[in-house]
Amino acid sequence: MGQKAVVQRLETNGTIAALLRDLASIQTSQQSRWGYKRAAAAIRNLEAPIESFLQADGTLRKIPHVGPSSTRVIMEVLNTGHSETVERQIAASGRTSDVEKSRALRGHFLTRAQVVSALADRSLRGPTLQQYRGDLQMHSVWSDGSQTLEQIIETAIARGYAYCAVTDHSYGLPIAGGVSMAKLAEQHHEIDRLYEAYRGRFRLLKGIEANIRADGSVDMEPDELRRLEIIVAAPHSALRSAADQTARLVRAVTTPGVHILGHPRGRMYGSRPGIAADWNAVFAAAVRAKVAVEIDGDPARQDVDYDLARLAVTAGCLFALDSDAHGASDFAFAETAIAHARLAGVPADRVINCWPLERLMTWAATAWNRSG
Ligand SMILES: [Zn+2]
Repeated sequence: MGQKAVVQRLETNGTIAALLRDLASIQTSQQSRWGYKRAAAAIRNLEAPIESFLQADGTLRKIPHVGPSSTRVIMEVLNTGHSETVERQIAASGRTSDVEKSRALRGHFLTRAQVVSALADRSLRGPTLQQYRGDLQMHSVWSDGSQTLEQIIETAIARGYAYCAVTDHSYGLPIAGGVSMAKLAEQHHEIDRLYEAYRGRFRLLKGIEANIRADGSVDMEPDELRRLEIIVAAPHSALRSAADQTARLVRAVTTPGVHILGHPRGRMYGSRPGIAADWNAVFAAAVRAKVAVEIDGDPARQDVDYDLARLAVTAGCLFALDSDAHGASDFAFAETAIAHARLAGVPADRVINCWPLERLMTWAATAWNRSG
């Protein structure tokens, strides 16, 4: 069973979730918008194919957060392969072109059921969950996350990780609670304390998610970046522009100190296309700079996805498979990233999260050898 089979075999959950999102987008009442959105999320998060919820009498087993009108859509899709009801309502809403636009922005996203299947499918090459040693993009209460540093460590240990990097937003991104350099110094003091407390059991690395400005420069000074062990550089602006931004990303990955090109496109499920670029050129620059290309496992991002990741595999890139977790329940997003890597056939040895800490730190030190 190859990549195509895994994706196609389980695509009904994704089809239904997308239809429910379409319905949500044309609702005039806030309440029904939320209702359909919640139902869509519930279907996207199912561990098993929706077909397995069908009972002997032909009805659907109860799924939390899925109400009667969503259930009607589900049954229609299961019986006919599509939903006349949804298409009729979209036509009647006069919002057909908005819906079409959203539909075009849902390519190569995986549902949870597809993630579970890709992790278990032994015909796929690529990293396994067991080989995964640590998550390198995570947010805490120091920026826009809900977890303390100690909670990150405890959750990571419970998942069998050896290390993680806390990568709160840089001060250049105040909208995401970016940390000032003074705050960052305080955070590092706290990480030093935790280093002693967890010595030999777990290592929390001092990281940052720096912002890539429109011109490709990173929003921190070189001496500020020097204080960090893992630097994720990621774009957060101009993500709806159709203009080519190859030069922006190439400049970012050649910046001394940068380790990971975070959510390279900046796309968002059904709403944002993200950056347009000559990806072969971006990936070639990343290979030369030894920067890892991130697969961000946040379900709404899935960036880069397995399709684009295949190009990066061919180019010879290193990869970072990260959750972008903002809270403890988001740690599982790393599994979405691993699933994409497996579908793309990324060799485990090229996944920096699968390296022992010593190898990771040796590689990290070389990021300063770049002339920029
Ligand atoms: Zn980000």
